[in-house]
Amino acid sequence: MEGQSLVFSLENLSLIKNFKNYRDRVEAMTKLTFYGGVGEIGGNKILLEEKDARIFLDFGMSFTLAEKFFSEFLQPRKCNGVGDLIEFNLLPDIEGLYREDYLQDKKKREEVKYDAIILSHAHGDHAAYIHYIRKEIPIYCSLITRQILKALEITSSSGFSDFLHLKENFKLIESKKGRLRWAKGAESKVERPFKILKEENFIKCFKIKSLPVCHSLPGALGFIIEGKNVSIVYTGDFRFHGYSGELTREFIEEMIKNKPEIMICEGTRIEEKENTLLTEEELKNKVSKIIKETQGLVVVNFPIRDIDRMISFFEAARENNRKLVINSKQAYLLNLLREVDPALPQLGEVAVYLSRKRKGVITDPSYPDYLVQQDYELWEQEFLHHPAAVTFKDIRDNPSFFLFRCDFFELKELIDIRPPRGSCYIRSITEPFDEEMMIEKKRADNWLKHFGLYPYHQIHCSGHASGGEIQEMVNMVKPKILIPVHTEKPHLFRNFHKRVKIVSPGETLKF
Ligand SMILES: [Zn+2]
Ligand SMILES: [Zn+2]
Repeated sequence: MEGQSLVFSLENLSLIKNFKNYRDRVEAMTKLTFYGGVGEIGGNKILLEEKDARIFLDFGMSFTLAEKFFSEFLQPRKCNGVGDLIEFNLLPDIEGLYREDYLQDKKKREEVKYDAIILSHAHGDHAAYIHYIRKEIPIYCSLITRQILKALEITSSSGFSDFLHLKENFKLIESKKGRLRWAKGAESKVERPFKILKEENFIKCFKIKSLPVCHSLPGALGFIIEGKNVSIVYTGDFRFHGYSGELTREFIEEMIKNKPEIMICEGTRIEEKENTLLTEEELKNKVSKIIKETQGLVVVNFPIRDIDRMISFFEAARENNRKLVINSKQAYLLNLLREVDPALPQLGEVAVYLSRKRKGVITDPSYPDYLVQQDYELWEQEFLHHPAAVTFKDIRDNPSFFLFRCDFFELKELIDIRPPRGSCYIRSITEPFDEEMMIEKKRADNWLKHFGLYPYHQIHCSGHASGGEIQEMVNMVKPKILIPVHTEKPHLFRNFHKRVKIVSPGETLKF
């Protein structure tokens, strides 16, 4: 019996040893887990792990999945913390990542298990869910991305935009009389550790190079990451046809030098072989021509944070002796961006539109200032007496002097402005690609028909590279393994690369 037992324990010992070797090998491997952004456009949340280092590349919201379960009036409950989002796989069910006031069990204590969230850019499908991240976990991004997130946090009324600060939701304060009350305002505000990415950054065992790329929003970055075992590149979202297309070309040059094993590449427009789209410059010229031929008011709609597009409309307006009018949210963002890039247009060169809000007394001089002020949020009050401020009266009285940016929610301004005969509308946003957008477009069309702005001009160009351009880039960089993200058609990457790994949501790859 004794002998047998000895053999058994020796066997056991070697099993344990083998297992330990195996476990060490696995632990030393580089792991990539895709919690979003695979098989869909956006929602990128890519976990990169090596030894004890855990970092997320982007932490975005999947718009497709979110719209499946939630809408403007059916929102996740804050009292259930991250629970409502985990329920539908909008957030991964993992420990040590989420803010403690959003844990389902508020009294539970979790150890922080993640070292960093690295953002490629400030679009919601890459950054929106940092709202749910724990206050201790640093957020790395470009200075411009931080400024955009700051503008979003201050000017948004959604309640889900704790980007630079976290407003603790379940903090109790004891009053002098010993009663408890919920903290509010500054009492509950905590600053997040934001870190501005340099060209080269070291986070635990990772060396991360961050390089600017051209996209439909400023401050976008691509990454070259060197771990102990592999070198990985992550493109984020990119294009070549904006005003800073050369940045993307420089990023490619850096990737070529680095000879990465793995490339995580976006493929929004992978099915488009040719880039038949306008460049931003061509778009500007087309717009300028339309403005030249328009006698009345030119009404335009372009994405609020697309600064390339703002510049296109700004220039086109200037060429025709008109002034671009933007809303107060855009003006606030522009001021913050000018702190980083003073070459951007300044208020005065562009006008700020003050819409009638709450009591709507802005255009009635018989009301004192302090009452007018009450119609506006604190952050927009700085524009009330700004020389660049205009109201509907200014535009109505002088329509041929302005180019008025008017998004879907601002269509109601047309009731006050009353565009005269001979006015036009330029739609410079993407075509609808889901049911909700279709409904919204139909509604917008009704407004435009009502105000004689229909048919309109559709002039837009995408924020993403075409399939042909992506293919060319991949052929130049020659990664060993290609992982498509941010696309509904990852299989199309197989047309030009031998080792394409199509990943399912939540799947982990080991290298
Ligand atoms: Zn995106
Ligand atoms: Zn983007």
